[in-house]
Amino acid sequence: MRLLLFSLLLFLPLQASAEWYRETRDMMGTQVDVELWSENAEQAGIIIAEAMTALQRVDRTMNPLNSESELSAVNSRAFTAPVQVSEDIYRVVERALYYSRLSGGAFDISFASVGRFYDYRAGRAPSDELVAENRDRINFRAIVLDAEQRSIAFTIDGLQLDLGGIAKGFAVDSGIEVLERAGIVAGVVSAGGDSRILGDYGDRPRMIGIKHPRKEDEFAVMIPLSDTAISTSGDYERFFMEGETRIHHILDPQTGRSSGKVQSVSVLAPHAIDSDALSTTTFVLGVNKGLALINSLPGVEAIIIDAGGRLHYSAGLLREASTDY
Ligand code: ADP
Ligand code: MG
Repeated sequence: MRLLLFSLLLFLPLQASAEWYRETRDMMGTQVDVELWSENAEQAGIIIAEAMTALQRVDRTMNPLNSESELSAVNSRAFTAPVQVSEDIYRVVERALYYSRLSGGAFDISFASVGRFYDYRAGRAPSDELVAENRDRINFRAIVLDAEQRSIAFTIDGLQLDLGGIAKGFAVDSGIEVLERAGIVAGVVSAGGDSRILGDYGDRPRMIGIKHPRKEDEFAVMIPLSDTAISTSGDYERFFMEGETRIHHILDPQTGRSSGKVQSVSVLAPHAIDSDALSTTTFVLGVNKGLALINSLPGVEAIIIDAGGRLHYSAGLLREASTDY
């Protein structure tokens, strides 16, 4: 009897077979994906649903197109008086302003003061006059935070915020937090071009592909990753052509026009809020200034595909690639 019990105990853990569970939903204008490794199907379902709820909350708060969102309230009232906001939006705006200062304004969530006049689906760009009229309203220094009141105010009338370059990363982090709190050790949360990998893929890293910016359904690079966030910003995601000019969704705050220095930037960082903001930032800065910024940040790496389709790697990736084993 004792022997039987002992062998049963030995046997049980082997019996319990873990599996990957996965769900995909349309959210935040893209596909959101939650995947995790669990021994319990029911529990996996509950955790995935909870992670989806966390992502949805971010979408509801930070969607500028939803007139009921908190971000819309900020956009319509923050010039008149400071607007008290939730912790989530305060944190995201605070982090966004950090990257604005770090990049000398290449990353600027008030790009929307001009950005809102673009309609990529309809193939419409604002006239030079409209851009000239509103370009000075792109100015992160006119966004004033008050930590005590937890409020946001604008010092320029007509300034508008859009968190599209950072909110998906924050949402992905919120999803991963749900997984971690539930004791999950391996999983992935992704929203469009922003992903964060928790743990690895069984006993090996995950192979993550970076899309080829000019060949649909092809990868330009494959990299093995575990325990990291990765975000890609590309000029092929939302765009239309005006003659030879590609009009796309990443704007240079200095001109109010699409930034043409590179085709794609992927950034690796511990948290997706940082990889997301930094992929957009590096896209605007271009190869030289972009790599200088990335190389100054510990634990952050980047892969850039320049305007001619050539690949550039940050210092840490080059070191890794040249290490002899
Ligand atoms: P996506 O995954 O949506 O392609 P990216 O990380 O590539 O996101 O960022 C693009 C988005 O960032 C744009 O759709 C816009 O909302 C926002 N954005 C564009 N230009 C800037 C900028 N200069 N600074 C901050 N955000 C920007
Ligand atoms: Mg980004």
